[in-house]
Amino acid sequence: MRVLFRHFRGTFRSWRNLFQEATDFATTVGPERLVSISHSADRGEGIVTVWYWGEPDLCPGCGYNLTGNQSGRCPECAMPV
Ligand SMILES: [Zn+2]
Repeated sequence: MRVLFRHFRGTFRSWRNLFQEATDFATTVGPERLVSISHSADRGEGIVTVWYWGEPDLCPGCGYNLTGNQSGRCPECAMPV
């Protein structure tokens, strides 16, 4: 297992929604695998990051590491994931 992370981004006005999305995800991760939740700001956006133990999320098409990817599409081979 590795320490993985997932980002939740939005405007500063949506902090509450970002934290809600992050805590929903952290709940599915579970207490045994959750490491931490942090937040920061980047160019006008708020970012909440959930850190957790897990197996890397690999693209079934090309093996690209999709951890943290939320676009719904592999950036390497464009396969929907
Ligand atoms: Zn791929």
